[in-house]
Amino acid sequence: MKMLVCAAIFLSLYTACSPDTLPQNKIVSMDTTKVVKTNAEWKKELSPEQYRILREKGTEGAFTGIYWDNHANGIYKCAACKTDLFSSSEKFDSGCGWPSFTMPFDSSTCDYTRDKTYGMERTEVTCRTCGGHLGHVFDDGPPPTNQRYCINSGSLIFVKE
Ligand SMILES: [Zn+2]
Repeated sequence: MKMLVCAAIFLSLYTACSPDTLPQNKIVSMDTTKVVKTNAEWKKELSPEQYRILREKGTEGAFTGIYWDNHANGIYKCAACKTDLFSSSEKFDSGCGWPSFTMPFDSSTCDYTRDKTYGMERTEVTCRTCGGHLGHVFDDGPPPTNQRYCINSGSLIFVKE
């Protein structure tokens, strides 16, 4: 009899705490703003140079990219996911041979990671939407931001205004 009462108490406690009666305070949401593709899919969509830079963190040679000397007005989009990343109004001639910007088009479009490869300590800049490698940011840019976003042309697509 005692066992039965215990079992009954246990059962009522158990059902009281079962997931059905818990408050729904843990809602798992999928982030639909991200673009996630397989390497095979990216390889199909991107040129070999774009793939090497964006997906394999490659770097184009200084003064070899198509945008370091581009002075037209417009928007630079991510070559992979087409997010607006940089504006010509923040582009400046840094003399480094890569397109250089004082700030991103929108602060929420880039992610930053400490990068200690090649014996240097740098801050890698990636596209927040697709995770594509863009380049690095340094704190030797012109005022007011004093930042130099040193970005590979190969990770960008320029859309003229
Ligand atoms: Zn992107």
